Amino acid sequence: MHRQASGMGGSSTQGICDGFVQAVGNTPLIRLRALSALTGCEILGKAEFMNPGGSVKDRAALGILLEAEAAGVLRPGGTVVEGTAGNTGIGLAHLCNARGYRCLIVIPDTQSAEKIGLLRSLGAEVRTVPAVPYSDPNNYVRLSGQIAADLPGAVWANQFDNLANRRAHYSSTGPEIWRQCQGRLDAWVAATGTGGTYAGVALYLKEQDPRVRCVLADPHGSALHSWASGDGLHAEGNSITEGIGNSRVTANLEGAPIDDAVRIPDQAALDTIYGLLWQEGLFMGGSVGINVAAAVETARRLGPGHRIVTVLCDGGDRYRSRLYDQAWLAGRGLHQPEAAPLAPADAASR
Ligand code: PMP
Repeated sequence: MHRQASGMGGSSTQGICDGFVQAVGNTPLIRLRALSALTGCEILGKAEFMNPGGSVKDRAALGILLEAEAAGVLRPGGTVVEGTAGNTGIGLAHLCNARGYRCLIVIPDTQSAEKIGLLRSLGAEVRTVPAVPYSDPNNYVRLSGQIAADLPGAVWANQFDNLANRRAHYSSTGPEIWRQCQGRLDAWVAATGTGGTYAGVALYLKEQDPRVRCVLADPHGSALHSWASGDGLHAEGNSITEGIGNSRVTANLEGAPIDDAVRIPDQAALDTIYGLLWQEGLFMGGSVGINVAAAVETARRLGPGHRIVTVLCDGGDRYRSRLYDQAWLAGRGLHQPEAAPLAPADAASR
């Protein structure tokens, strides 16, 4: 395999991937045409929703599993345990089926019913727990670590602090973006949950070209925007987005280059994902709204003529009962943007 460290994309011959594992990665880089035209920059989205498990977290899940196998701590019939907002668990559940492991997921009960239901459909044992801060021993991440420690033959994926996560992005997502851009890009913009995607790609791109500007995007309710701006870990407000933002600096985020930080309100993220749906035909999750809105803000800060890359983390299907439900949004003081009618000339030129 030419990329042994992650195994992503693997050694497919004649366009055939050998199973789920080799289908992870090698996602398209999509030009977001309307926002590129609007800003005068080229805004590109790495289509991670096209991974076989449906999100960017397939890469981290695979990297963590392969390293655990290589280290000999995960053996046939063993159990992979993880605390997750959903997508890592979904990636792990697919991979555990594909590689012969059991999967046990601890998830806060605030996450979408679609993700929790999907985890159960995939065959994972799912334990929903109340959402409490990381400092509480009953926090879902801490609980998952405890369960793994008590269960014979179990491995704790520990996506937040296991550097196999960011290594997966350093060895696959970063090089793919660099190749797809043929070495010409001005900025990399991403929100962080574990920090694996942001940090792995930022570390790789900076090594190729130190001029690539690395911009951390953040929702409200997270302490990372103030931390990245040099004001310490302070959170204000809250967010309906899932899987991003943090109250602490994880091992995966630690040491990552950060040149700028952008905070995006939920309504702006919503306006962005509805715009992507109506104008581009892309049906996206909420973190994509934060990422793409932050890419647009980065375009504004840099001025026209720059190429900016961000991540399309997962699809809208996982959030239909929330982000795409008018009543649910209204209950949170948010509104569903209206579809801008297409002028026939516009439609014809698409
Ligand atoms: N978006 C979504 C929908 C996610 O589930 C996650 C992972 N929690 C992220 C973004 C952030 O990815 P990372 O953990 O690599 O920072």
